[in-house]
Amino acid sequence: MSSNHTHNKKNQTLTKNQRIVLNLLQDSGEPLKAYFILDSLKKEGLSSPLQVYRALDKLVELGKIHKVESLNSFIICNNSNCASNTAFTICERCGKVKEIKNNNLTEGVNELVRENKLNITRYNLEFYVVCKSCKIN
Ligand SMILES: [Zn+2]
Ligand SMILES: [Zn+2]
Repeated sequence: MSSNHTHNKKNQTLTKNQRIVLNLLQDSGEPLKAYFILDSLKKEGLSSPLQVYRALDKLVELGKIHKVESLNSFIICNNSNCASNTAFTICERCGKVKEIKNNNLTEGVNELVRENKLNITRYNLEFYVVCKSCKIN
């Protein structure tokens, strides 16, 4: 199997805690703050914050979920292989968060990295926008 398939393999090796956290974020589809996640998972028997933070960290590392830094929230990944590089739009009016993927954007970042000789480890781009439904009103 080529390395392209490692993503699927990793899916099967998620721990019970990781699956519970992943399901919560999947069902929500919205960015959730850590304390909200902690609260919601108490019923599922995940009462230790450390367990939840560990699961969140691992899921971020696997690229299953992302951290939206400026909102201090976590959101399910909408693409299959962002790894640790992510880009989001955040509506300034309604707060809606959308994951975006664009080849030109990726190339632009690569060029920026080359030109400035950045020893880049990862990036997380967050664009503040007015979303379509807010623009109409
Ligand atoms: Zn993603
Ligand atoms: Zn909006």
